Amino acid sequence: MYARPIAPSGPFGLFRRDPGDPLERTRRMVDEQLRGRGITDARVLQAMAEIPREDFVPDDLKRAAYEDSALSIGHGQTISQPLVVASMTQALALSGDENVLEIGTGSGYQAAILARLCRHVVTVEVVPQLAEAAAARLRRLGLANLEVAVGDGWNGWPPAAPYEGVLVACAAPALPAPLLEQMTPAGRLVIPIGPEGGDQVLQLVRKDGRASDLFPVRFVPLRRGRSGGG
Ligand code: SAH
Repeated sequence: MYARPIAPSGPFGLFRRDPGDPLERTRRMVDEQLRGRGITDARVLQAMAEIPREDFVPDDLKRAAYEDSALSIGHGQTISQPLVVASMTQALALSGDENVLEIGTGSGYQAAILARLCRHVVTVEVVPQLAEAAAARLRRLGLANLEVAVGDGWNGWPPAAPYEGVLVACAAPALPAPLLEQMTPAGRLVIPIGPEGGDQVLQLVRKDGRASDLFPVRFVPLRRGRSGGG
């Protein structure tokens, strides 16, 4: 008979000293905050259960990592509420083969979820230090189908276009035209539209510009910075 390993590997083969805890808390977050609140896509629930949210917040916020809210984590950056991450991801209706663009890498949490659900992700961040920290974190998780780029996401990211899915994690006063241009004909774009600090609505937009409102949100603004496009 073989001895059982004392500590099984965590996600992506990482060894965890206390293996039950972060993943157990992650599963509880999924059960309590996502199931029964409109998240019905089994793949999205699975991905959310596999990525420990605490890996994306600073040490002093680990305890708060699984709360049902957004968290401020420095540099004017927030990690969105789990329900918002799940809802935006679900709205992209990913089946596994898509090329996806995210604007606003922040901690990298949303990008990690996306990477579990599609073929390739490019995520663009305007603050270089945030992009570097997120890239290091995502490398540690062993997510290979993901690229972090520094630039102004208003311009999208032409080198890897076209995209079947585009997810914008900061609020724009109006839809940035380059994002529509970089979508495939059947592509889906989710973006918060509205003023900084004011009433914003999450919209699902199609290539022809048709938009439907999903729900009200409060995101940090899409800032204009360096030009993107590599
Ligand atoms: N998706 C992130 C949360 C994003 S918070 C997560 O899962 O943690 C919004 C992020 O958008 C911030 O990091 C901010 O720096 C970034 N941002 C703001 N304006 C931007 C722009 N024009 N291009 C790219 N990123 C931008």
